[in-house]
Amino acid sequence: MSRADLEALDAADPLASFRDLFALPEGVIYLDGNSLGALPRATAPRVAEVVAREWGDGLIRSWNDAGWIDMAARVAAKIARIVGAAPGTVAVGDSTSVNLFKLLAAGLRLRPERRVIVSERANFPTDLYVADGLAALLAQNHELRLVEPEGIADALGSDVAVLMLTHVNYRTGAMHDMAPMTRAAHEAGALMLWDLAHSAGAVPLDLAAADADFAVGCGYKFLNGGPGAPAFLHVAARLHDAIRFPITGWLGHADPFAFEPAYRRAAGIAAATIGTPSILALAALEIGVDIALQAPMAGIREKSLRQTALFATLVAEQCPDMGFHLVTPAAPVSRGSQISFAHPHAHAIMQALIARKIIGDFRAPDILRFGITPLYTRYAELWDAARALREVMLSDEWRQDRFRLRRKVT
Ligand SMILES: *Cc1c(COP(=O)(O)O)cnc(C)c1O
Repeated sequence: MSRADLEALDAADPLASFRDLFALPEGVIYLDGNSLGALPRATAPRVAEVVAREWGDGLIRSWNDAGWIDMAARVAAKIARIVGAAPGTVAVGDSTSVNLFKLLAAGLRLRPERRVIVSERANFPTDLYVADGLAALLAQNHELRLVEPEGIADALGSDVAVLMLTHVNYRTGAMHDMAPMTRAAHEAGALMLWDLAHSAGAVPLDLAAADADFAVGCGYKFLNGGPGAPAFLHVAARLHDAIRFPITGWLGHADPFAFEPAYRRAAGIAAATIGTPSILALAALEIGVDIALQAPMAGIREKSLRQTALFATLVAEQCPDMGFHLVTPAAPVSRGSQISFAHPHAHAIMQALIARKIIGDFRAPDILRFGITPLYTRYAELWDAARALREVMLSDEWRQDRFRLRRKVT
């Protein structure tokens, strides 16, 4: 494969124009949109407008006049379309970690005779920490049971309340088949909770067709909502009457501005809301979500699968016998939108790439992770990134002392 082959793919790319919607720095090859999505050009002017006009001039009147009070629900309705959830089943706010807590606690209350949450040992740590912390808080023989992917079906005993899985694994990029896994949970009498952190905006999702009970996801990854963007959660409509959330804040009340002393749960998904939403953050998130809605998901998936496959091939071609071991599944149906390699010197190698302005990330203990964001990743960049990886290895550049330093965020 030559660089010209990849330039030809860029020239014929139906999504090419989406890149202009992002303010990517010159000379940077950004393969980390699954950690922090790039900045849309429209975000800074929109946030500036909300600050100056809506907050500065409008002051508290903007809760009504600028529609702030309905903003979270508006953005949630848009995210529902991205994740294939029925209208009125998604709420936006809090962080993914907090939303996991809310849904796991609610799930355990919906299955009071069951005390176990099942998850994968390789799940993202916050998911496991939150579940473990909740089990410790409840302390009535509640338990987080961790298994390998092959062991999930066997772990679904009659004591399991919730099966909590991340759809696309953050390290390997391996993707679960959502509908059959959800069915297996239901057949065992358990509720199914999907973490869509590495899926929303990246792969086609149909929570409604899969009949998923719960889902959570991030606003700052493939939805390009900005650092620490509000997260989202989904609860299937059939559970809305029965569900009880563990945090009963005033904005989840049926009539917040009646200021009643006793909590009365709001109808529907509104009960998932806790307190005052972050309006500046929601304004930024909405820009990213609007871009995701403009792009055809089938086209995003097609380009993502093509780019991930190409990048794996390019690295195999450019870096043979250099110790890179592909850990992302080769089968398209089992792959999210990233390519990961294990390498004993993954950390230093990634630092050397970043010094060359090719940004991916390192995931302990030994993973180099390259996120593919079809809205702005160019084919030719993949060639350049694989080439740079080859140069970093052949020159021993990665052995420089400065690339050994582990900073707080990797
Ligand atoms: C990124 C990610 C999170 C992040 O949670 P925060 O509360 O936003 O820090 C959670 N779960 C998974 C699977 C993730 O990939």
